[in-house]
Amino acid sequence: MKRYKVAIIGAGPAGYFTAQALNNSADAERGFQIDMFDRLPTPWGLVRSGVAPDHPKIRTVTKVFEKIAAEPNYRYFGNVELGRDIQIADLERAYDVVVLATGTSLGKKLGIPGEELPGVISAADFVPWYNGHPDYASVNPPLEGKYAIVIGAGNVAMDCGRMLALVPHELSSTDIADHALEVFHASSIRDVTIVGRRGPEHAAFTSPELRELPKLEETDVFIRPEQIADAISRVGARIESEKDLRSNLEAMKEIAHAEHRGNERKLSLAFLLTPLEVLGSDRVERVKFAVNRVENDKVVSTDEIVELPCDLLITAIGYKGLEIPGVPNERGRIANVDGKVREGVYVVGWAKRGPSGVIGTNKSDSSEVVKRIVAELPATPKGVGAIDAHINSEKIVTHDGWSAINSVEISAGEALGRPRRKVVSWSELLSLGGAKST
Ligand SMILES: Cc1cc2nc3c(=O)[nH]c(=O)nc-3n(C[C@H](O)[C@H](O)[C@H](O)COP(=O)(O)OP(=O)(O)OC[C@H]3O[C@@H](n4cnc5c(N)ncnc54)[C@H](O)[C@@H]3O)c2cc1C
Repeated sequence: MKRYKVAIIGAGPAGYFTAQALNNSADAERGFQIDMFDRLPTPWGLVRSGVAPDHPKIRTVTKVFEKIAAEPNYRYFGNVELGRDIQIADLERAYDVVVLATGTSLGKKLGIPGEELPGVISAADFVPWYNGHPDYASVNPPLEGKYAIVIGAGNVAMDCGRMLALVPHELSSTDIADHALEVFHASSIRDVTIVGRRGPEHAAFTSPELRELPKLEETDVFIRPEQIADAISRVGARIESEKDLRSNLEAMKEIAHAEHRGNERKLSLAFLLTPLEVLGSDRVERVKFAVNRVENDKVVSTDEIVELPCDLLITAIGYKGLEIPGVPNERGRIANVDGKVREGVYVVGWAKRGPSGVIGTNKSDSSEVVKRIVAELPATPKGVGAIDAHINSEKIVTHDGWSAINSVEISAGEALGRPRRKVVSWSELLSLGGAKST
């Protein structure tokens, strides 16, 4: 049997779904040895550090990942960063195929005056902070004021807004990082507004996320009914033929007409506002917006300006990938044609498509790229490549090392009625994972 060696860089959903599709395409004549690398000691990418802690069901996909990891053809190389600890050329020499699944971790900037003021942070920093990513433990977002604004009209903005608006006891039984739970308990934020530049009909929220908002018991949720009525009249007959659009607008209409319980905590969704400037003397105090309208399905600014009070501004307007030495980058993604970067090098997931699509989207996408990989495999595998020689073996967190971290987190959580209690310090993660930091 021909046994091909594949390196997958990035242990997020796209990386695991690639491994799964490779295993599914193995047969009596062809098999794969899969080595998965991640810069973190812990695998699972954004399923661990992105998905909101109050959505535990979404994280159950990790059962699929653990099944793939339990296969005898799988090895995990945690704490190994491509571009720092190992170079792409080394991987290309040692493996028949290299698949980049490195995601997109940098938050895009608004590019407006005042954005650098204290009190303005990106969702790309806020989310991994509350999810216990070891690089973000010291972000410490200022939650001492009353007003928070989240700029963006997608599910990441929604997660940030909901996390800020929830009563902290609703988070106590989750796997949120301990440091974040403490800060949310002390938070004075009571009024959160999620702001979209375009109309309700253009919002990228998905309807399950919208439909859970009226169920929040201790937070009142607001949308101005006229914004939804106007959107419904603008879309006209499209509402009948476009299922997702209909479902979203119906969910927003329900929110707009819901009775409020008089809760102290408020979460509002506002549309057709473009941020122009962040105002404040030594920190954010207000945000200035241009009021927009929709003309022929296009958003145009009017002369009207509004200012909203703001003590914390979170920008959730998309992500771009960090550049990796030796890997071509194009507009925040790894440059590729249908997943191919160059001979023997491929890309999957958010690193390939940019930051869009849910976890499941990466499954079909990885399967498509694997079809191409299999069709383009060299006639003969390379034989024994010594990747281990390029990495200091003492610093690698293996799958057993990760399993040790996992068990410690789960048992620490069990004692508190939580799914896990995350370890957030690099030194503790490495020591539990049986690795050295150098
Ligand atoms: C805040 C947020 C919330 C989300 N919530 C949901 C949700 O509720 N439901 C849903 O279906 N989808 C959700 N998504 C989308 C989902 O997380 C993505 O579709 C998915 O994670 C993309 O997978 P990926 O493998 O391409 O990237 P990632 O999950 O980002 O994985 C990339 C991996 O690569 C590693 N890596 C990066 N650079 C290097 C390097 N140089 N060397 C080695 N390793 C490297 C990273 O450490 C990471 O583990 C959410 C996304 C975000 C941002």
